[in-house]
Amino acid sequence: MHYYSTSQQSPFVDFKEATIKGQAPDKGLFFPEHIPTLPPGFINNIKKLSKEEIALTVIQPYVGDTIPKEKLEAIVAETINFNIPVVPVTDNIYSLELYHGPTFAFKDVGGRFMSRCLGHFVKDHDKEVTVLVATSGDTGGAVASGFYNVEGVNVVILYPSGKVSSVQELQLTTLGKNITAIEVDGTFDDCQQMVKQAFTDAELNKKLFLTSANSINVARWLPQQFYYFFSYQQWHQEQPPVISVPSGNFGNICAGLLAYRSGLPVKHFIAACNANDVVPQFLQNGKYTPQPAVPTLSNAMDVGSPSNFIRIMELFQHDLQQLQQILSSVSISDAETTATVKQIFTDHNYLLDPHGAVAYAALEKYLQKHQDEKGILLETAHPIKFYDVVEPMIDQKIAVPASIEAILQKEKQRVKMEADYTFLKDFLLQ
Ligand SMILES: *Cc1c(COP(=O)(O)O)cnc(C)c1O
Repeated sequence: MHYYSTSQQSPFVDFKEATIKGQAPDKGLFFPEHIPTLPPGFINNIKKLSKEEIALTVIQPYVGDTIPKEKLEAIVAETINFNIPVVPVTDNIYSLELYHGPTFAFKDVGGRFMSRCLGHFVKDHDKEVTVLVATSGDTGGAVASGFYNVEGVNVVILYPSGKVSSVQELQLTTLGKNITAIEVDGTFDDCQQMVKQAFTDAELNKKLFLTSANSINVARWLPQQFYYFFSYQQWHQEQPPVISVPSGNFGNICAGLLAYRSGLPVKHFIAACNANDVVPQFLQNGKYTPQPAVPTLSNAMDVGSPSNFIRIMELFQHDLQQLQQILSSVSISDAETTATVKQIFTDHNYLLDPHGAVAYAALEKYLQKHQDEKGILLETAHPIKFYDVVEPMIDQKIAVPASIEAILQKEKQRVKMEADYTFLKDFLLQ
């Protein structure tokens, strides 16, 4: 499998080079030259397969021969070595719980896969690799945990000051060793912009071997397909599910759409957004207008210029009408998010986090208009990660898992920085 750049100005690369480079030199995103189709019988027999077999079959064509089979098997097994259950919430709504990994968010899947692939690829490199990543909250923790103590790899994480939850901040500022956190006085989009600029800075790239761990990296994006297949494996209804994905940078839903293009049965996708509604606007009126991000209760989705949306357009040959048949997108307000968390907890004894609540509200709206359909929402994080906002909503305390309890005792260590690329460059060159 080869990957081209969505900007069309860079040469084709294989999985190894796409993973190491992160972003294409022409600032485009790497995209597979063709969409693999699943082996015959794979979907019909999916209930008989193990999670590992499913994941390996899905990812193998994308990796090609850049990783030996046994090594890839081991990477896949470590990537998904936690529960990913589909849990019923109501008669027609199910929750795919993606938060049973080490940092309590779905980004563990991509983070674990990518860190292991990159660790494999840089084994025989003489230069140390610097993984540079911007986070809106959960990427930082997942990437830090994935790369912690990996030899030959340094990780630098940029996060927007005051715009991540306290648990999220602790997860990325308390590891130390090869992990450095930078608190940027700005928004997530500022952080992302600084990171993107670093990748295209020729002088910097001569001195440092830089790579990205954002969802633009194919090694983070592609394994996110796994759990869409796992959800189908656990789906017992006749009709395929409607799937609602809380979306920010649109990597997660783009992986779902890729799985769909490979043959996964899905009735419809909903990209559930908060007040940052660039994509809902676009699907409605065809105008794509990135906006500065506005802060909301679902902070990991506060993205005003979603990086991965270009890949969705690529998947559907930039044909808006074709896209609209399978994807709708809706913006959910903070008031609706709060009301949803409260109501689902009171009526169904199920506690959503604010991101899952956005997806729930969007799915509920959709199902009201499609009464014979049933759906799955992707519950992307454990509510404990957002206890500061969730506890007041339900007016009670959430039980704290032991691994979170441990970091709450630690002191955060980070470098503070203005949202100005020259500061980041100086810092990296030190
Ligand atoms: C990152 C994140 C999202 C958004 O995912 P994208 O792939 O950026 O669209 C949603 N929910 C949570 C909890 C997240 O951490």
